[in-house]
Amino acid sequence: MAQSYHEKIKIPNGVEYDQPVGLFINNEFVASKDGAKFEVINPATEKSITHVYEAKEADVDAAVEAATLAFESGPWSRMAPHDRGRLLYKLADLMEEHLPVLSSIETYDTGKAIAIARGDVGAAIATIRYYAGWADKIHGKVVDTDAGSFNYTIQEPIGVCGQIVPWNFPLIMFCWKVGPALATGNTVVLKSAEQTPLSSLYLASLIKQTGFPPGVVNVISGFGAIAGAAIAEHPKIHKVAFTGSTVVGRSIMRAAANSNLKKVTLELGGKSPNIIFNDADIEKAVEWVNFGIFFNGGQVCAAGSRVYVQEGVYDKVVAAFKKRAEMNVVGDPFDDATFQGAQVSQRQFERILEYVDVGQTEGATIITGGSRQGTNGYFIKPTVFADVTEDMRIMKEEIFGPVCAIAKFKDLDDVVAKANATLYGLASAVHTRDLNTAIEAAKRIRAGSVWVNIYNAIHWAVPFGGYNESGNGRECGKEALRNYTQIKSVRINLN
Ligand code: ADP
Repeated sequence: MAQSYHEKIKIPNGVEYDQPVGLFINNEFVASKDGAKFEVINPATEKSITHVYEAKEADVDAAVEAATLAFESGPWSRMAPHDRGRLLYKLADLMEEHLPVLSSIETYDTGKAIAIARGDVGAAIATIRYYAGWADKIHGKVVDTDAGSFNYTIQEPIGVCGQIVPWNFPLIMFCWKVGPALATGNTVVLKSAEQTPLSSLYLASLIKQTGFPPGVVNVISGFGAIAGAAIAEHPKIHKVAFTGSTVVGRSIMRAAANSNLKKVTLELGGKSPNIIFNDADIEKAVEWVNFGIFFNGGQVCAAGSRVYVQEGVYDKVVAAFKKRAEMNVVGDPFDDATFQGAQVSQRQFERILEYVDVGQTEGATIITGGSRQGTNGYFIKPTVFADVTEDMRIMKEEIFGPVCAIAKFKDLDDVVAKANATLYGLASAVHTRDLNTAIEAAKRIRAGSVWVNIYNAIHWAVPFGGYNESGNGRECGKEALRNYTQIKSVRINLN
């Protein structure tokens, strides 16, 4: 009998399900070629959940082979665009049916609060539906040049796309990548993050159940330096999309340059400013500042980790923010009331606490938090540093945890200069009742997203991505379709 490479798992909230643990290649779950596996940890308890098969170079080759065949000669290559759309709609419906199990897996594997995981799955489903709608609306143009020629363009898929995703929003990142790639007719080899492989494998089983032809989507678990690097270097992958740290983003660009000049889109780190003007609705602004930094335990590339408050309301905001941060429920990720669960891994947990030490050594004032919560699991108290100066590392470097730096500013010119004094440029927000201030700030801040009187307002229909070292290309919206298509120009001589 063929091995099934599934394992029965019981999640602490009582959900029981079949977890695929194999690599998903050509619509089958298979063992890695050398049989290697790695352990998956529950960050809320530090205990083992299971082991999954680990992809190395030879497994990446097999996945690329399957994706190449599917792109060049399988039923996918001949499928009408509206039928690709129908498959994506069907996948979204199936994900909706499986929402309780998908969100439970996400919480079990990442440590994030179940309420947030449910929201993640909802956003992942909406993303797939959004791109399903695009599948049959991607057109070329007719270009008029002269009476003697007829010219048109075709917007064609690129081919096999490598997609490397991080651990903070495994399902959303999966769908942001796979949605536009499939809508435009590409095939995919997606690598999940080694910290969080489980929901991607479960989603792979739904992709098979939906009826996508073999080889269209291949999902592998594995480590960045081995399987991730093999994707970035692969001569038969013609596009790589990556979300993760800026340092790895650089290595992916280098790997693309050194191999086949594959197209690269990168969604990288940030140190995003969240700005409160004197005239803001302070209560609401503090709510968004709290959400901006502590949502998902601060493990958000767009996190509002630099909070700038205008002089007239600084003391009031600092006091209100302290009070609000202390109201966040931190703890058991499966409790519906929890807002902040565990950090994803021991490495991240230790890194964040190191930054807390750095902030104290640099002379910033901790107004709340600053330590581990409890003795088991990777929980950290929501931490706020006040009186932070521009030269401090906690003001410059991405911490990727529940740690916020607050500083004062004088006026619009002052805060725009501070907001832009960063190597990054992913997101930003301003809180003000004055439309002119909002528009002026939105114009002058160098970042891919500016939010007004809200934070983390990411939406699948609105382009999202970075200026500067926060990356290139845009995900979400119509713009993401460009990442996965190339233009062919055809000129016909009519004479
Ligand atoms: P973090 O440091 O927060 O874990 P990374 O940028 O290292 O973030 O990881 C994001 C994704 O990039 C993960 O899927 C990881 O496996 C992958 N990755 C890490 N290093 C490399 C690499 N050298 N080449 C390709 N992918 C990598």
